[in-house]
Order: sequence, then C-alpha cells, then structure tokens
Amino acid sequence: MIPLFSASAANAGVNLESALMRVVQSNWYVLGSEVSAFEREFAAYIGTAECVSLANGTDALELALRAVGVSAGDRVVCVANAGFYGSTAIHAVGATPLYVDVEERSLNMAPAALAEALQHKPKAIIVTHLYGQLADIEALAKLARKAGVAVIEDCAQAHGATLKGRRAGSFGDVGCFSFYPTKNLGALGDGGAVVCHEPEIAQAVRTLRQYGWSTKYQVLTPHGRNSRLDEIQAAVLRTKLPRLDASNDQRRNIAVRYNAAFADLPLALPPSTGDDYVGHLYVVRVDSREAFREHLRSHEVSTDVHYPVPDHLQPAYPAAQGAGSLEFTERACRTVVSLPCFPGLSESEVVQVIHAVRSFFPH
Ligand SMILES: *Cc1c(COP(=O)(O)O)cnc(C)c1O
Repeated sequence: MIPLFSASAANAGVNLESALMRVVQSNWYVLGSEVSAFEREFAAYIGTAECVSLANGTDALELALRAVGVSAGDRVVCVANAGFYGSTAIHAVGATPLYVDVEERSLNMAPAALAEALQHKPKAIIVTHLYGQLADIEALAKLARKAGVAVIEDCAQAHGATLKGRRAGSFGDVGCFSFYPTKNLGALGDGGAVVCHEPEIAQAVRTLRQYGWSTKYQVLTPHGRNSRLDEIQAAVLRTKLPRLDASNDQRRNIAVRYNAAFADLPLALPPSTGDDYVGHLYVVRVDSREAFREHLRSHEVSTDVHYPVPDHLQPAYPAAQGAGSLEFTERACRTVVSLPCFPGLSESEVVQVIHAVRSFFPH
C-alpha cells in the first residue's frame, strides 16, 4: 500500500542522531541555545525580524490572536474548510469565528467574502494557506489593513511558499507554523512557532509561552501558559531547515507529474505548481468520492479527506455563523481527496498512483 506520508522516506539521509546526541550531551533541555539558534535561523528563512518557538501550531494561532489583542467576545474571520485549527484557537480565547467562503479554484479565502465580513467589525482575520497554496494574501491583507483589522497567517501547511520573493508568514502581522511530523518542516513530535516583524508582538508571545511572566515568578500578563519547543525538537528542526527548499521541490515535482497526467480527466486539480505552492497536500476534487477512494484502495493507493466536515457544521458548536454563503466551502468538503505526495515518494509509486487514478475513469 502506498502511504499518504512516510516519515522514514521524508527523514531519509537526515543525520538526526547527531542532533539528538548534541542535546543529550548538553544537559540543557528547555529554552536553551538550540531554541535561540532555531528561532534566528527560521526568522531569517521566512524574512521576519522575529520568531518565537512554541509547543505546537494551535498554540501559535491562539497566542498570535492574544498578542494582536483579541479577547473574549471579539469576532475573528476565518475559513471553514481548514480542519478547525483556527476555530480551536479562536474558541480558546473566547472569541467567535465568523466564517467566510473560499474561492472555487484555490479553496482559499475569497477577498470578496472577506470584504463583506469586515462590515461585522472583526478584531482579526486568520488566513490559512491551505494545502501549501498561498492564499491571495496581498489582496486579503490590503482589505484587512484598510479596515484596521489584524492579519494572522496560518502557515502550518505552507513552510517556504513564496510570492514575489516573499515567504508565507511575512505578509501579515503574525505568521503561525506547526512542525508536526507530517508538515513540510516536521519535528520528531509536536512543535510550533510564530514569526512577525514587530518586536512588541514577539515579546507578548514570549511572555504568554512562559506562564505570563515578566521576570521569573512575576506574572504580569494574564492567560499565560506553558508552550515551549524542546531543545531536542529545535535541534532536529535546525538539521532539517537547510533541506526544506529541496524537499518542497520534490513535493512540487510530484504535483507537476500528477497535474500533467490528470489534465484530461473530470477532476479539479491544484491550481498552481509554482513557488506559491509547496505541495503539502495534493488535493483533487471528484464527484463520486467514495467510489474513487475505494478504487484507489483496491490499487493499493492510500487517500484521505482534508477535511470532510466544514467548521460551521461541527456538532460541538451548533451556533456557528457564516458571513454570507459558504457554498464553495461545503461543496469542497464533499469532493476533496488527497493523494500521496511527499518527499521520498518513488518514481514507480508516482506511476502507480497515476495508473490507479486514470483507470477509475472510462476511456
Ligand atoms: C497542522 C495544522 C495546524 C495545527 O498544528 P498543530 O501543531 O497540530 O497544533 C494548524 N493549521 C493548519 C492549517 C494545520 O494544517
């Protein structure tokens, strides 16, 4: 069975042992020199002045919301097709998500829908670069800034995605990353970070990640917690960061092969295989999804659905609200399917996936 992701393939050739042993022998495991060095190196890679590492990507979103001033009762605009991560963070601060529809082609936030939602005076927007495809971030950020609304980018699937030489995470007020093992830059466990240009925002997140302390044992800021990246994970990420662009190229090259092989099929394909897409997930849309998945399973090809339930229809939050129609969101949730696309997927496996997909359709 071809998997949807393989940690052993993605980490092949990475000298993880020396990163691990360096930390073991340092006898320093939390907030030390590996974390500081990773924060410097990741900020330099993204093109921001600041990076604050955290325990995971959901904390990054929540602490970013707090750092830009979102609190209980505020509204935050986001999309409803991105796995509920943004919604989790919004609910954690006691704010309310205001869902807006996505563009049919990119499945990312539609600027026209945002323009309408801004009339409801949200405090911030979360723009998710879904599947590794940059959203129309320039247009979205311009609209939000004109309305005085903070822009948070969810880059958990878009490490390294680029527009006109600028990377995902450097367009908004704060960029949020996850280093969960399957992400484009993955640790050996949980990890996350925020990046930003403003030192005040970085300082607010630094305070929140460590109990709200101003100095040791002095709690100046409410809603602090423990959310730190381990030295071991930082050392692993430092070892993998120099290979990120090359592994994104591998993902993109697989997407190029698939897009060419599927061009004549009745499937909606990822809209770009350029630098604005880093192939986190290769997602097609098909009407008869269950039959399609069953066919691929019988050809030993794994698939998954990212994501089957839109945020506004999750049973835990029956009062969820959209600003306008969520037609494209709901249609996408019914039709999206992810195919194997990860660094280390072999040429023969790519051929097998292509054959499995093509053979589903009558000639
Ligand atoms: C993975 C992911 C997150 C959450 O990251 P965790 O580290 O798992 O908390 C947030 N947003 C998106 C789009 C993700 O894919």
